[in-house]
Amino acid sequence: MNSEFKVPIEIELYERKIYDLKQLIEISKGLNSTLEYNVLIDSILLTCMGQMQLIKAGIFLKKGIDHEIYSLHRNYKGFELDHQREYEISPDSALIKLLEKNNRCYTLEELNAILDEDPSLETINKMAPMLVVPLKGKGKINGIIVLGERINGEDFREDEKEYLLNIASLAGIAIQNAYLYEMATTDMMTRLKIHHFFQTSLVELRERAIHYNVPLSIIMIDIDHFKNFNDTYGHTCGDLVLIRVARIVMQNIRPTDVAARYGGEEFSVILYNTGIMEAELVAERIRKQVEKTAIDSDNGPLSVTISLGVTEFRPGIDIDNKSIIERADKALYMSKHAGRNRVTVIK
Ligand code: GH3
Ligand code: MG
Ligand code: MG
Repeated sequence: MNSEFKVPIEIELYERKIYDLKQLIEISKGLNSTLEYNVLIDSILLTCMGQMQLIKAGIFLKKGIDHEIYSLHRNYKGFELDHQREYEISPDSALIKLLEKNNRCYTLEELNAILDEDPSLETINKMAPMLVVPLKGKGKINGIIVLGERINGEDFREDEKEYLLNIASLAGIAIQNAYLYEMATTDMMTRLKIHHFFQTSLVELRERAIHYNVPLSIIMIDIDHFKNFNDTYGHTCGDLVLIRVARIVMQNIRPTDVAARYGGEEFSVILYNTGIMEAELVAERIRKQVEKTAIDSDNGPLSVTISLGVTEFRPGIDIDNKSIIERADKALYMSKHAGRNRVTVIK
């Protein structure tokens, strides 16, 4: 009589496990299908929310490739937070040490009982999550997921916490891969993308521009008389100039545009969904800002100028990257020959 009842319960348990594993395979496929941070983060948060029926979810990650502090990524869902405030957790905090030591989820009550007075608690308490889940890549913490209330208002069961840890271990690897990709495609001095990334992006964006029938423009930038500058003030000072010019370029474009260090003291920008007239305005804005920017150095404030070439993508004619880049280069050299510190447009 007893065994008659026992079998179906076990089968139910195994079926549940098989279902969970199948879900995890699907989650893994989803998380590994992108290296783009924003897409990946949404994918992680929405997975947790969908699987656990949550109203709120957020993720703390290192801000960039040279940041040590974990900060709440802006893609968080459901939490009502103070936009003026930074939500940050130090890598030296007792919270990170605890998560590093014990690979398990913690409730807010547990954390408050264990970590009295830790500065990270203030950040966590402000968010008031129900559960905190560590993310790990290569055995080290590389993020923290914070989960808020559930739709049904229930607490997390132990098996659900276990399941969340499985999701987190997949997410941690995906984050690690995205980070490595970011590192491999970024010029560490200027923080712009590297040449190869520019070329592959240009292929992709040309195709996208044709598909959606939108314009695309590119700008080539070269610092004027930079050899002289280096010879006079030294390479260290020259490097500061490169970093500053790169920052000005970044400040004048949209997140969907691609700014790269084309090589040496040359930069290239892809402006997606941007016609030639708008691109010329962007180029002119960058030129003016570089011209009026003084760079502090041991030799006092220094400044440089740049020459720019702008052109628009011609669908059907620019069948590869070469022809559009050559046109922008030609425009750039026209700027040089006309006296430098100017923008030339070839339509
Ligand atoms: P033009 O106005 O015609 O562009 O003159 P230019 O002197 O800028 O051009 P040229 O191509 O002769 O020299 C480029 C200089 O850029 C030479 C090189 O030392 C400098 N440069 C390239 N990469 C770096 C770098 O990473 N750091 C520093 N400090 N200088 C660099
Ligand atoms: Mg040059
Ligand atoms: Mg130059």
